[in-house]
Amino acid sequence: MVNGSACYKARMLPARIDVAIIGGGFAGCATAWALARRGVQAIVLEREAELGRFASGRGAGLGRQLAEDDATTALTVRGAAVLRSELSSAWTPSGGLLTFDEPSRVQAYVARAERHGLAIDVVDRARVLTQWPEVRSLPIAAGILIPSDGVIEIHELLALYAARATVELGVAVERVEPGGSGAQVTTSRGVIEARFVVDAAGAWAGAASGDPPLDAFKRHLFVIEAASRDDTPYLWHLGNEELYLRAADGLILTSACDATHGAACDAEADPEGLRGLREVLARSAPGLERAGIRKQWACQRSFTPDRQMRLGRDPRRPWLVWAAGLGGHGATASPAVGEVVADAIGA
Ligand SMILES: Cc1cc2nc3c(=O)[nH]c(=O)nc-3n(C[C@H](O)[C@H](O)[C@H](O)COP(=O)(O)OP(=O)(O)OC[C@H]3O[C@@H](n4cnc5c(N)ncnc54)[C@H](O)[C@@H]3O)c2cc1C
Repeated sequence: MVNGSACYKARMLPARIDVAIIGGGFAGCATAWALARRGVQAIVLEREAELGRFASGRGAGLGRQLAEDDATTALTVRGAAVLRSELSSAWTPSGGLLTFDEPSRVQAYVARAERHGLAIDVVDRARVLTQWPEVRSLPIAAGILIPSDGVIEIHELLALYAARATVELGVAVERVEPGGSGAQVTTSRGVIEARFVVDAAGAWAGAASGDPPLDAFKRHLFVIEAASRDDTPYLWHLGNEELYLRAADGLILTSACDATHGAACDAEADPEGLRGLREVLARSAPGLERAGIRKQWACQRSFTPDRQMRLGRDPRRPWLVWAAGLGGHGATASPAVGEVVADAIGA
């Protein structure tokens, strides 16, 4: 149930709740979804007038399971399994292709896939080019095809989570501190006492409790006017040059994987982003750099200093639980993030 959007009248917030969740992105909504399945009373407090105004509503929707490290891969593999089954209306099976300049990196990813029981095929450059002939100038040593990867319909996924949760829009959490039976949550619409507070505030995680900010890196995405086939696996090149492409309603959604360190609130596309994309495309997929731009946008991915998601109880404050630092894999991992955080609460 979503309250506070234009079509709902703002109502009184509860004075007391088991779990107050700061932020209505994937981290917060998936946590509320997981808690609701366990019968725990929770409320998502979202500052904006709609869900997904930041990272969660602006991602590329790649359901990529094979991530950069084991801890993240465990979450993305579990997350994708739930997406394929219980949340399947937000998932399109497409397969995914990771490609590499260096054979040694291929081996590291193959070993990680084995550790996580992920079925893959190692493919050669010629096979990659049958799917994506556009990237003929990329120095591809080999690729890994992950047949069980897919594409996530991000707004549908947020809606599925929200359908099981209580969400209040237009409520900014100003401060959280110890109080009552757990925490006192001061919001723009009054004070709530909660047994637990989940900080799922994305790029703003830590702000309400006075903790150091995460690192926010802005990335641009584009839909370009070049034809694609919907049954093509997405391609993500993990080389000196990083680039991804996926089919998007007959066109190509692409990013040069730029990452500019900046402030949490800076989510506007800028001319530098487009210039960077065109340079990367000219070097790797000649011809595509001249394609028209149908749509462009940008947003931040937020990282902890060690680049591991910060999930679970705070070591010093028993009432504080983290669901933050989801980085570039938060859409895929989100069902698992919700489960891990609900487990940490003890639900
Ligand atoms: C350009 C881009 C491409 C991406 N592509 C992919 C991809 O292909 N596949 C994938 O798996 N992942 C992808 N991701 C990553 C994924 O989108 C993120 O990991 C995920 O959305 C993070 O979710 P979140 O809930 O932590 O943050 P957010 O979605 O930013 O949500 C945090 C919410 O908290 C709210 N908030 C903040 N402070 C307060 C406050 N004080 N009070 C109330 N509300 C507050 C904000 O308004 C916001 O809505 C991408 C991300 C970006 C930016």
